[in-house]
Amino acid sequence: MAVLDIIEIPDERLREQSERVAEFDDALKEQTRDLFDTLRATKGIGLSAPQAGIFKRIILVHVPDDDFGERLYINPEILSKSKSRYVQESCLSVPGIEGNVVRCTRLKVRAQDINGEVKEFDVDGLHAVCVQHELDHLDGVLFTDRLSWFKKLRLKMASGPNAGLSRAA
Ligand code: ZN
Repeated sequence: MAVLDIIEIPDERLREQSERVAEFDDALKEQTRDLFDTLRATKGIGLSAPQAGIFKRIILVHVPDDDFGERLYINPEILSKSKSRYVQESCLSVPGIEGNVVRCTRLKVRAQDINGEVKEFDVDGLHAVCVQHELDHLDGVLFTDRLSWFKKLRLKMASGPNAGLSRAA
């Protein structure tokens, strides 16, 4: 069992583009086991490999008590989406921040399993929302990027106190 450290902002590694998994070998199985150990230890509902310093397209989702159980998606792609709505989110890599993000609540996802077999999944509810959140991590996107007020705050901070912006706009 290995619980990995979670990378937190402002660590720039969270902005990396993760690579597709090509080798479905024992090393991948071990990394996946470590990621599940890490997810269980954090008591989160989802984890992407890059949050734990593994820059591969692997996500884990486990919403307690839903019908989908503990799921592993390797090289995930969203094939189709339903209409969207605002959902409150937070992130293990962005401690202390919550915000409402627009997400689809029903998805068809294509992904590979631990043996490289391609499968399609229909998911909904919080599980579907979590898939989108974790998939964003694989492309270096954080949920805060989707919060207009957070972006404005960062812009203001980046511009400094003397930059002439009396208020974020
Ligand atoms: Zn996250």
